[in-house]
Amino acid sequence: MKVGVFGGCFNPVHHGHLRLAVEALEILGLDRVELVPTAIPPHKGQRGLLPFGLRCRLVQKALHGLPGLHCSLVEGGRPGPSYTGDTLEELARAMPGSRLFFLLGVPDLLTLPSWKDGLALTRKAHFVAVARQDMALETTREFVRSHWPEADETVYPGWMKSPGNMVCEWRLGPGSGNILLIRPPYLDISATMIRDYWSAGRDIRFFLPDLVLAELTRKRRLVERYWAKQEARSDVGQVGGVKARPPRGGCIHGR
Ligand code: ATP
Repeated sequence: MKVGVFGGCFNPVHHGHLRLAVEALEILGLDRVELVPTAIPPHKGQRGLLPFGLRCRLVQKALHGLPGLHCSLVEGGRPGPSYTGDTLEELARAMPGSRLFFLLGVPDLLTLPSWKDGLALTRKAHFVAVARQDMALETTREFVRSHWPEADETVYPGWMKSPGNMVCEWRLGPGSGNILLIRPPYLDISATMIRDYWSAGRDIRFFLPDLVLAELTRKRRLVERYWAKQEARSDVGQVGGVKARPPRGGCIHGR
């Protein structure tokens, strides 16, 4: 079985995430994609981060009735920061014989050496970099060649003509997963933008599924406690009594 692993804070999940999951299913011919909400992001403060249980429920609502897409609660069962290596190991144990494909943006792939276990994570899964621009092929190629000079490259012809295609694949060598580059269409939506709209009292319909919006609305009082403007609320989401960093873009899955 070929399984996509798509981690993120999903604070909240939105159509950009869902579209990418569907594209990955089709471009890579996956049997399923697991959306894996990060319980405790290792490199990002928790201020403004909705409780793990609520973020998971929002993902479950978003995936309701969508074949091939699943929500994995695997990170909820571990104490401490949610590291990708632990998550990949747990998923591999839960689905023996599966091939895992870990999805991430090209800019995140470039930071892989600084993650826990860094480049060795490619031994646990194939890494699928998601291109947002044509330049991504050059950037990713440079990254791969600098760390795996022996990697064998296959460029798929015609990828520039339209989005929704595989761009390139690098075979890193025996015992290692591959690095793949795909280019899906990109919906320019971010969870940060949705939270900003929400705090400003603006309409967030069509950024995310109706069922997610309904759940956010049902939990409005709780959501407001987390998403209220940071200056207005300094007491929510602090970790261990220490003020957490303010949120920034790009909360990838645990590293
Ligand atoms: P935030 O704005 O809070 O940083 P986000 O919308 O970027 O959140 P994350 O939870 O950080 O969402 O997303 C995790 C993963 O989803 C990352 O790999 C990120 O690259 C990807 N992603 C985020 N937004 C989109 C989008 N619009 N289209 C495709 N992938 C996306």
